[in-house]
Amino acid sequence: MPLKILGSGRPMRLFVAGLHGNEWKDTSSILENIEAPKTGTLAVIPLVNKENYISTLDDNYFIDIGQKIITAIEELEPEVYIELHSYSAENQTKLTDPERINRVGVPAFSQLDNDVLLGSVVPYIRKKYFPMEALCLTFEIQKGNPDSKKCTALLIDRVKELSSKEEFIKFMLQRYPEQAKKVIEDYKNFYGLQNEDLPYLQDQYMTENKK
Ligand SMILES: [Zn+2]
Repeated sequence: MPLKILGSGRPMRLFVAGLHGNEWKDTSSILENIEAPKTGTLAVIPLVNKENYISTLDDNYFIDIGQKIITAIEELEPEVYIELHSYSAENQTKLTDPERINRVGVPAFSQLDNDVLLGSVVPYIRKKYFPMEALCLTFEIQKGNPDSKKCTALLIDRVKELSSKEEFIKFMLQRYPEQAKKVIEDYKNFYGLQNEDLPYLQDQYMTENKK
């Protein structure tokens, strides 16, 4: 499945779906049907692999079946990188459990509307292939839940217009203020940052925090 390029110029965004196993069933069509952003470029890989299920937390994922993602990242150097995954309802509690960081070494997902989950991407590619300023997100759609899929498609359509982490934080603070705080905290913890390292948050998030 080739890489599809929509639009032109920067900012560059790369969205990928169907990363492993049967997840393509709930995710690939969203990227197959997406339209070009108003500014810059959107590159999409609607289907990475449907033969095997290897977790993206397994470092072998990106040197094996996910290799085409790495090739695309190196070629395009995207400012925004998004993975679309799907999960079974019975795993929801595990994925959103605050203890997930201690269990598997990655932060819990935040729950948005319609059982859509939001998280970052695995530390392996976040640190190795992206600068700190890049926006890297994972959306998890609940399997077999049409509302969850529809909600994700709408969110993705909105997020494809964003060009930076700052814009995303603004969007989150407006639309999902509670979840936004967790996303910001996770990001700060991951890079060992302090509040003063994120000046663009001073007027919005920080004043919000003092309330
Ligand atoms: Zn997945």
